Amino acid sequence: MDLVEIFPHLHLLRFAVGQAYLWSEADSLTLIDSGPAGSAPAIAEAVRSLGRRPGEIQRIVLTHGHEDHIGGAAEAAAWGDARILAGAAEAAAIRGEVPLPPPVLTADWERELRASLPPLPAVGPVRVDVELREGDLVDFGGGAQVLAVPGHTDGSIALYLPGPRVLFTGDTIANVQDRTMLGVFNTDPAEAAESLYRQAELPTETACFGHGEPITHGAAERLRRLLPTG
Ligand SMILES: [Zn+2]
Repeated sequence: MDLVEIFPHLHLLRFAVGQAYLWSEADSLTLIDSGPAGSAPAIAEAVRSLGRRPGEIQRIVLTHGHEDHIGGAAEAAAWGDARILAGAAEAAAIRGEVPLPPPVLTADWERELRASLPPLPAVGPVRVDVELREGDLVDFGGGAQVLAVPGHTDGSIALYLPGPRVLFTGDTIANVQDRTMLGVFNTDPAEAAESLYRQAELPTETACFGHGEPITHGAAERLRRLLPTG
């Protein structure tokens, strides 16, 4: 796993598949997503390498229920008093009570991409302590605004920090091979596009994606290019 500083409060944790983010403040750590199953030891090591203790993680926010985002959450939550937060519409799936609907693959390249990926290790049920809804505030970064951004999955959420103007998109937007784009493997592609447009209207400076390099400066300008023209 790679640990990459975006700025002193914010690090990217890049796993073999997928990524998570660590927001560091003097009195608490916040983990946004948690990698595939088996990621927790690497997350703990990353936290220690920053001179912090894994038990300082106070909250783990899951952007959605896919295996490459929730796999380390249960183990990481057990290091201390961390609460696990997720979108209200995704909570039952994350808890393992209902299956997540499969994606609707719209193009040959998307079907080929999906077929080319190695299967991820299965993830057991993950506790959800707090169900987040549109407009809720999560207590980090001066107050992270919760946006309901359905389409990649029904209960996907994004987080926006108005102070530092940081956006965590989950998998609703990707930035792979220098291409900022709608995320792939969406349950409802049309709804996913609407959720992307909504995020593209924000005055984001730094955009953090579930897959691909963060855009550290001027993200809004890049994201607005994805808006429909005319
Ligand atoms: Zn996903």
